[in-house]
Amino acid sequence: MYPKLIIKKSKLRDNALTIKNLLEEQGIDLSPVTKGFSAIPELVEMYDSLGFNYIADSRILNFKKQGPLHAKRLLIRLPSLSELEDVIRYSDACLISEPVVIKALNEEAKKQGKDYEIILMVEIGDLREGLLKEDVIPAVEEILKLENITFLGLGINTNCYGGVIPTKENLTELIELRKKVEETYHISLPITSGGNSGTMYMPQGLPEGITHLRIGETILLGTESSLGNRVENLHYDVFSVELEIIEVQRKPSKPWGKIEKNAFGETVSFEDKGEMNRGILACGRQDLPFEKLIPLDDIELLGSSSDHIIVDLKDTGYKVGDILTFHFTYGALLGLTTSAYTTIEIQE
Ligand SMILES: *Cc1c(COP(=O)(O)O)cnc(C)c1O
Repeated sequence: MYPKLIIKKSKLRDNALTIKNLLEEQGIDLSPVTKGFSAIPELVEMYDSLGFNYIADSRILNFKKQGPLHAKRLLIRLPSLSELEDVIRYSDACLISEPVVIKALNEEAKKQGKDYEIILMVEIGDLREGLLKEDVIPAVEEILKLENITFLGLGINTNCYGGVIPTKENLTELIELRKKVEETYHISLPITSGGNSGTMYMPQGLPEGITHLRIGETILLGTESSLGNRVENLHYDVFSVELEIIEVQRKPSKPWGKIEKNAFGETVSFEDKGEMNRGILACGRQDLPFEKLIPLDDIELLGSSSDHIIVDLKDTGYKVGDILTFHFTYGALLGLTTSAYTTIEIQE
């Protein structure tokens, strides 16, 4: 059945190890992030066999579906107040910013007789999660009073909402703030978490003092997310998707008739390129955002509705029933692994 997502497990293992070793040389602990492939248990187990201290995911449900792991489980989306019981049960540590939630987490940890680790998030300009710098010192004072909470350190997130990327300047700000916290409270913090795959555009140039990164995309696709470039020595073809052609007809390129908005309320316009060999693929927006696909053949992606992708097959000679293979960027992987309609084939 198609869409068929093909995953080359040994290449994924290579990528994870290559980055783990590269970062270890700089004293940085890597937590691989599994949300990009919806934490498929066979792949999480493979990560777990590589000896990571933490395996990270944004969703408690992704931890809940795993068997026992050697690594600790790091929740990287701020925990919701409504799910704290499961947070304590199915994870060992989290990124967090809200003092109210930290207190509630301590209460739940006490109830379950557990100690729970936290990394306090600091806002450095991207404007997603994190406390402003001036609010960090007072928050830490409160955290240190909580019996069932272990305070691991500080973290930042970038490249998400505001498009702000990690730089020597903002990473150094984080390191300075960590030192200030350590001096103020006479503690030593093992983790200074410098971000995600956005940081991998400067794999050698991280300022000293960053001790931890949370990386999904670079392991999965071999790319960093600040400039969108490939990172050296990684496989870029861990994942591919196969889609089936269900119609091939020679038709005009410009729609005709009375034109209104399309099925998604979008106003569309088309250039008249004359007749073309138009193909329809049995895959649509319900499966993946089609603009994230990268064709391996000389074809052009034209558009997509809920269940269909329309392509210009040019002179490839493809016919109905043929299978087209694509690579893709991150958004398509999220869609494909989340969708119930994808067949997943894991190859060695
Ligand atoms: C998703 C996420 C990551 C991993 O991002 P990649 O770009 O896949 O490396 C790291 N940290 C946080 C907080 C995230 O939400």
